[in-house]
Amino acid sequence: MQGAPKALSGDGIVMETNNKALRFIEDVTVNAGKVQKRVLSEILSRGAGAEYLRRNGLNGCTDRETFKKVMLVVTYDDLRPDIKRIANGDTSPILCSQPISEFLTSSGTSGGERKLMPTTDEELGRRSLLYSLLMPVMSQFVPGLDKGKGMYFLFVKSEAKTPGGLVARPVLTSYYKSSYFKDRPNDPYTNYTSPNETILCLDSYQSMYSQLLCGLCQNEEVVRVGAVFASGFIRAIQFLGKHWSLLCRDIRTGTIDSKITDPTVREAVSKLLKPNPELADFVELECSKGSWKGIITRLWPNTKYIDVIVTGTMSQYIPALDYYGDALPLVCTMYASSECFFGINLDPLCSPSDVSYTLLPTMAYFEFLPVSRKHELTCSISEPTALNDAEKQKLIDLVDVELGQEYELVVTTYAGLYRYRVGDILRVSGFKNNAPQFNFICRKNVVLSIDSDKTDEVELQNAVKNAANQLMQFGASLVEYTSYADTSATPGHYVLFWELNVQDATLIPRSVFEDCCFTVEESLNSVYRQGRVSDKSIGPLEIRVVENGTFDMLMDFALTQGASINQYKTPRCVKYAPIIELMNSRVVSSYFSPKCPRWTPGHNQWCTQN
Ligand code: AMP
Repeated sequence: MQGAPKALSGDGIVMETNNKALRFIEDVTVNAGKVQKRVLSEILSRGAGAEYLRRNGLNGCTDRETFKKVMLVVTYDDLRPDIKRIANGDTSPILCSQPISEFLTSSGTSGGERKLMPTTDEELGRRSLLYSLLMPVMSQFVPGLDKGKGMYFLFVKSEAKTPGGLVARPVLTSYYKSSYFKDRPNDPYTNYTSPNETILCLDSYQSMYSQLLCGLCQNEEVVRVGAVFASGFIRAIQFLGKHWSLLCRDIRTGTIDSKITDPTVREAVSKLLKPNPELADFVELECSKGSWKGIITRLWPNTKYIDVIVTGTMSQYIPALDYYGDALPLVCTMYASSECFFGINLDPLCSPSDVSYTLLPTMAYFEFLPVSRKHELTCSISEPTALNDAEKQKLIDLVDVELGQEYELVVTTYAGLYRYRVGDILRVSGFKNNAPQFNFICRKNVVLSIDSDKTDEVELQNAVKNAANQLMQFGASLVEYTSYADTSATPGHYVLFWELNVQDATLIPRSVFEDCCFTVEESLNSVYRQGRVSDKSIGPLEIRVVENGTFDMLMDFALTQGASINQYKTPRCVKYAPIIELMNSRVVSSYFSPKCPRWTPGHNQWCTQN
């Protein structure tokens, strides 16, 4: 996924642009401390008129010492009243002096709804700059990338309008719809097999189908493949598994299937599609072979790597990618969020378990809150609590972090977030000049994730409670539960293991457990429900009832692994294969959610735009 550097032609210019990008990285990492100081002072002087800074008592100061002394360290919930005012149409400079151009809807949620991150027009340029560094870095390791195309499966999602009229949409939708992406100049590094129209088509079936069709038509030209997250790429391959015969028919005849009704998509694809029976025979032959091992390199023989994020929860997809890609390198290029784009991977061919991101000191002002995480069976860290003065003092600057230490990331952005806790836990793995590099460890509290959904312990607890209430009428109750994200099939789905206190479970009708599954889904956050309803990236939730005594066995197992009996708490999510095996070996019955939960674009109360 790349951005929009200047128009290029010829090897010399490519090389010159690459060198310029690499010199930029060198410069900002050598001068990381100085750059960070300048960034903070710039943010604060530009924001001097903002109500939020005045309220905190900054009084126009732009120095780091005063900033650290007076500014609160906050979470989204602290900002919610200000965000609400902006969403309702208050255009006064509340968080920053520049006008808020739109809201970016984070996949992180608060109160069940996506978080709304304010952004400004200028931030788009900053994001685009980070994108423009990725290929120059990559080209140091893989030659010839300017001689072919990238087959990237990129998608937009629906957007909504706030009551005050601001657009609210995911950060990548915002980027793909911007002129930085749509009107990018002719550039070998942003030469994709997917025409813009196929990426910008809101209908996920038509978008996926047409992108695959275009990718197959140009199969010899493809030198790299990818998607943003591993889950999206796997979905594309599974889609191919279901629809290859239709796709082959289109390739053979040079016509587009009638299910593709979007006229702009049809027109864009028809420019690329010519009848090609030979290619259709080839694709048909490969896809109809029993095994799909190495299907990527078989269909796109010049592919050099798969560009997808496989760090964090996405690491669950590495085995599938290795299978389809026949061990092609998996490349994680960047670490970013709706709040801010953070950094890039300077050693992109490293193994997925060694990926580290160098935070770019120009993107935002970064601080770090040290965390200590006991060795646990899941990555679970307690709820964010307000920091007291002593803890506030503990926030560490970018250049002062220590090798091996874990930190929670805190950002101050040009778009009006000040000392904002992102919720990600990072570990310092090394340094590029004076800029630290970080392994992504986990998202705080998140227990379950299949795609971009992030379900935390509290949400899961509430959802399970709502559902389990339905058992009471049968004299049954829930004794214990845990969960895991089952990604063995696509789409993956949430599994809950339930141990019940009941005389005779067979007296409870199947439909009651199915209703429980549905209630859990209805109670989960809007990103989960969107994944179920609109993106179809998450399958129906499953409850597996386990034999009595199973959770005692789980505890015994944890104790043998070194857990302390005094501190033992049932993990609300299990990831360790032997534990999942243990739980599965005790299942007496299982039930799936019979229908999709409710979901509409935007926050509950807003009108939708699409
Ligand atoms: P969103 O706000 O929806 O854009 O999601 C941003 C979050 O996605 C980050 O705060 C991380 O938790 C996660 N994320 C983004 N990039 C990466 C990455 N390269 N590796 C692991 N997690 C990532």
